[in-house]
Amino acid sequence: MTNVIEARGIEKVFHNGDEETRVLKGIDLTLGQGELAAMVGASGSGKSTLLSIIGLLLRPTAGTLSISGERVDDLSERMRARFRNQRLGFVFQFHHLLPDFTAMENVAFPAAAPGGGISRAMRTRARDLLARVGLEDRIDFPAARLSGGQKQRVAIARALMNRPDLIIADEPTGNLDRESADRVLDLMREVNREEGATFLICTHDDGVAARCGRRLTLSDGRLTSNVRDPGGFS
Ligand code: ADP
Ligand code: MG
Repeated sequence: MTNVIEARGIEKVFHNGDEETRVLKGIDLTLGQGELAAMVGASGSGKSTLLSIIGLLLRPTAGTLSISGERVDDLSERMRARFRNQRLGFVFQFHHLLPDFTAMENVAFPAAAPGGGISRAMRTRARDLLARVGLEDRIDFPAARLSGGQKQRVAIARALMNRPDLIIADEPTGNLDRESADRVLDLMREVNREEGATFLICTHDDGVAARCGRRLTLSDGRLTSNVRDPGGFS
């Protein structure tokens, strides 16, 4: 089976004037299809930087990256953007929904061709996904009128719209109270189990990490631990 992520020797150095910050110092990471993995680490340890590199939003200073068996680190910007839109899904701490558009439109829009409308098939899939995340009664609500947890459910439905190979979630529960955070994580577990979606979730919440199938720890620019079934019950 092809691995969804194969990263080898990933390094990242940021330059600000004369100052150099070495954030990632050689990351090797393999993630198989259907995994639900959490990455934990102190604030500033480089979690978002690594997710941005894997999400093709940022290029590594060194190292190689393959997603679903395809080398992506040396692609042109245009091909990287295309790969990102077609093969990856994103969930961020701040959902970035369009407040005046409905839940359905927020899920379907990113899948529409630039300048194109939402096709009937996209509408149907967006509605199905919103039902899947428990929002069948909020499909036509403007995003601004949804609660924080509901908005994050819309963001998950949106991430699933293109049937991505990998869903990258950066602190998806960071802005939610305990109960909403648990429900959002339950939903990701369900989508993982029932649809085989592969997740890489970065979180500073140990409660979230304990309920993922694998916990990776990032410390001082290196992956220092890799524990399968950290909660001991999946
Ligand atoms: P985390 O998500 O684990 O909190 P980040 O990946 O956001 O950590 O940041 C890791 C380190 O890299 C921090 O010291 C941060 O200041 C630095 N950093 C992140 N992005 C940039 C940037 N664009 N330019 C310079 N330094 C950056
Ligand atoms: Mg971060």
